[in-house]
Amino acid sequence: MFNIVLFGPPGAGKGTQAAKLVETYNLVHLSTGDILRAEMKKNSPLGQEVKSLIEKGELVPDKIVIELIRENLNNNKTAAGFIFDGFPRTVEQAKSLDEMLQKESLNIALMTTLEVEEEELIARILLRGQSSGRADDSDQAIIKNRIKVYNEQTAPVAEYYRQQGKHVSIGNMGTIENTFSQLKTHIDKVK
Ligand code: UDP
Ligand code: MG
Repeated sequence: MFNIVLFGPPGAGKGTQAAKLVETYNLVHLSTGDILRAEMKKNSPLGQEVKSLIEKGELVPDKIVIELIRENLNNNKTAAGFIFDGFPRTVEQAKSLDEMLQKESLNIALMTTLEVEEEELIARILLRGQSSGRADDSDQAIIKNRIKVYNEQTAPVAEYYRQQGKHVSIGNMGTIENTFSQLKTHIDKVK
């Protein structure tokens, strides 16, 4: 299996690039944000539990997210590999992911951070909010809190992978195609 982590702040373009990578490399896209929103839509017990956190832009507890990932890995045993999008969001989650993968003799090949300036992030998320219907995409204060949570709790995850020699940083202020081509270059180097 070939596994990568797509990393970066909210609104950086992870979901957009993940969709393109799925087509090119036939990987399974695992977005914890999408999974959590699906639970909210179903109004499942889990969805009800996480709703208020997500709508404030706070993180869902590690334990919940890790269990979701564990389930999804178990349900996709024959996958060619995974694109982790929006996960791991804390160093604790990154360590758990490494443990889960190691048990199956698997690993993360590469972690790529999409870098975008804060003003541009806010503009992109507000634009997405016009069609996504997401409460957390439609309010400046919530968006700013998500970016703050990213800077404080999530950004250190990049250092975790940097220490393993697996991290690359990609500017994503340009076009979707330009970023995609940079991503492909980095992936093809390690694949
Ligand atoms: N979230 C979380 N843990 C995750 C994924 C999502 O706590 O692993 C919550 C968090 O509140 C976040 C929201 O879900 O602000 C939306 O996450 P998503 O990854 O969809 O947003 P993006 O960063 O892609 O804009
Ligand atoms: Mg996303």
